[in-house]
Amino acid sequence: MASSSKPDYYKVLGVSRDASQEEIKKAFRRLARQYHPDINKSPDAEAKFKEINEAYEVLSDEQKRAAYDRYGHAATAGAGAGYTDFTDINDIFNEFFSGFARASTQTRRGPRRGADISQEVKVDFLEAVFGTEKEIEVVRSEVCPRCGGIGAEPGTSPVRCQTCGGSGQVRRVQQSILGQFVSVATCPTCSGTGEVVNVPCKQCGGRKQVRVTRTLVVNIPPGVDNGTQIRLNGEGEPGINGGPPGNLYVNIKVNPHPFFRRKDTDIIVEVSINVAQAALGDEVEVPTVDGKEKLAIPAGTQSGSVFRLKGRGVPYLRRPGRGDEIVIVNVQIPQTLTPEQRKLFMELARTMGKEVVPQQEKGFFDKLRDAFGM
Ligand SMILES: [Zn+2]
Ligand SMILES: [Zn+2]
Repeated sequence: MASSSKPDYYKVLGVSRDASQEEIKKAFRRLARQYHPDINKSPDAEAKFKEINEAYEVLSDEQKRAAYDRYGHAATAGAGAGYTDFTDINDIFNEFFSGFARASTQTRRGPRRGADISQEVKVDFLEAVFGTEKEIEVVRSEVCPRCGGIGAEPGTSPVRCQTCGGSGQVRRVQQSILGQFVSVATCPTCSGTGEVVNVPCKQCGGRKQVRVTRTLVVNIPPGVDNGTQIRLNGEGEPGINGGPPGNLYVNIKVNPHPFFRRKDTDIIVEVSINVAQAALGDEVEVPTVDGKEKLAIPAGTQSGSVFRLKGRGVPYLRRPGRGDEIVIVNVQIPQTLTPEQRKLFMELARTMGKEVVPQQEKGFFDKLRDAFGM
């Protein structure tokens, strides 16, 4: 080394000579926080801070780093004349003081989160209302059980890549008439992992993962509807290089019910009463998802009248309480009459006028619209 008075840049940052750019950056940020003169009041903090900056300025630049590796401090005269990287320092302090950790740039070797999987599950109408448990079969990759995700046959282990010396990158320094030329590329031998498997695992063939079919139990909460998505954390594809696994998203599909229909958290049911019940009033039993419920039909109820049974609907998914049941009452006109009924209707007819009042009959959806105030 030409100028031995200066400390070794790698030692200053506390990184190995084959450290990746990410490692260098991390080390720099940690030290810069520690020794920034605004924070660290010890007398040698400022000198140390300058030293850290100088080391980072050189090692963070592939070309300067290559020159330093080759010629030592002589190659980098003039480096660290001031706080050359001030923008970066300010960034660090903004980040530091706001307590906000920026996601670090992911490298090929770094941990990566596994992919998400989505799967449909069918539930019955009442299961959607009250919740249930469902078994689902998921096909996904998992860490190979034989090699534990190493890729090497048990009893053997991956070896450091000869081509890149384990760094995952190859740097070529070439001398040309224009000066030094440095190129950095992902190592072609190990694809950037830094390791090579000589004896691949028999089960996964060195791929580190295997496809498996898993049966999972999904807890379906009360109140789900068509399209509700349930997230199962960590049940997706496995992470890469130690990253976290992805999630499994279960998409709910609700089978229709023979007579209950649903609008958000309200349940709609249509019931029929006869003309006498409509005219005189009655108490009838109507089906609800909780069982039969008594409903008072006032005298003079018109066909298409709408009644509301509070709290007999679908439970709210994210808060306590339930929607209502909407009962649409249809008045049935008898299609056949017994002789006695015919006699009574004729007597009834005599007491009523023959006046005809034109009226526009409302359809089912008009009634619904009235019921929901849409
Ligand atoms: Zn394996
Ligand atoms: Zn390699």
